[in-house]
Amino acid sequence: MKKYKIAVLKGDGIGPEIVSEATKVLSKTAEEFGFDVEYQQALIGGAAIDETGCPLPQETIDICKGADSVLLGAVGGYKWDTLPGAERPEVGLLAIRKALGLYANLRPAVIFEPLKSASPLKEEIIGESLDIMVVRELTGGIYFGERGTNEEDGIISAYDTERYSVPEIERIAKTAFEMARKRNKKLCSVDKANVLDSSRLWRKTVERIAKDYPEVELSHMYVDNCAMQLVRNPSQFDVIVTSNMFGDILSDEASMISGSIGMLASASLNESGSGLYEPIHGSAPDIAGQNSANPLATILSVAMMLRYSLGEPKAAERIEKAVVTALKQARTADIATKETNIKKVTCSEMGDLVTSLI
Ligand code: NAD
Repeated sequence: MKKYKIAVLKGDGIGPEIVSEATKVLSKTAEEFGFDVEYQQALIGGAAIDETGCPLPQETIDICKGADSVLLGAVGGYKWDTLPGAERPEVGLLAIRKALGLYANLRPAVIFEPLKSASPLKEEIIGESLDIMVVRELTGGIYFGERGTNEEDGIISAYDTERYSVPEIERIAKTAFEMARKRNKKLCSVDKANVLDSSRLWRKTVERIAKDYPEVELSHMYVDNCAMQLVRNPSQFDVIVTSNMFGDILSDEASMISGSIGMLASASLNESGSGLYEPIHGSAPDIAGQNSANPLATILSVAMMLRYSLGEPKAAERIEKAVVTALKQARTADIATKETNIKKVTCSEMGDLVTSLI
């Protein structure tokens, strides 16, 4: 029997609650699809600081590197808010991304049919359905470029540098084309090529890679127009590929269209294919320990893991279908509805319901 080793980093706040529900669903899915899962727990964030004094202990890095994939809850909380910047739980997040070489961030923005009314957009703008994948470059660009603060003649100035190399652009472009090939075969590359040299190189390189993917329809869009189009006519998009900073902003904008932070999964991929999967929300310390969090973003992160790292697309689909069915029967507090035929449930009850629908 195939066996997958999954590193499980529950983290802080609601992290342990939501991850427990996601692994419950994964174990049932494994049973149904005839594979085995071995979980290895490891510390990150505040929990790791309390235990070891460090937000990302070496042992956690070793466990993640030895695993087929990594599932992360969330980190951070009031208890560690007064620590100096470099010692905070969130440092563990940046460090694990770096340690695992996670260069591509995949952020789906999906509207689930039963939750259409939760979107801030009008139904006529959303259309039939909405399913966008934002592919963001994660290890290059302005967040990692040369920076500094100078003072000359009494005037202080600061600068950051947007720099991209051809291999960096090629790598993320290939990831995005592969993604588009498996979806609706439409890729929109977003840049600011009317102003920036780095964007002109980005566009030229993406166009060259496009020749290897003739079945994918490639378009280009300036980032300011894309920000507008996402709320004007979001269903024109299938896959969007963009740089680190533009992706940071556009993926948040795209995800808000779906209307609920507790529903959104994400994946960060590396060249080994193992990847790290996590909900986009934080540790929600305001509701931690109450068994009221929405576990669906983490459950959907497990579906992404099955599809993109473990090569089990049918199992992924089963989980996604179970989530849609569950939404028609029950809701956690954050997405509760007045409809009387839909029950209000706790975090673990939602996990049990999805598990029972696998
Ligand atoms: P947050 O995402 O944790 O919470 C924002 C709001 O959304 C809160 O009201 C919270 O209760 C609610 N919420 C979030 N997830 C939910 C869920 N699954 N179900 C129901 N409600 C949910 O963001 P924040 O409050 O800005 O940050 C809290 C902590 O999380 C901070 O320490 C922050 O640094 C950290 N954080 C971590 C990550 C991460 O681990 N990837 C990401 C963002 C923030």
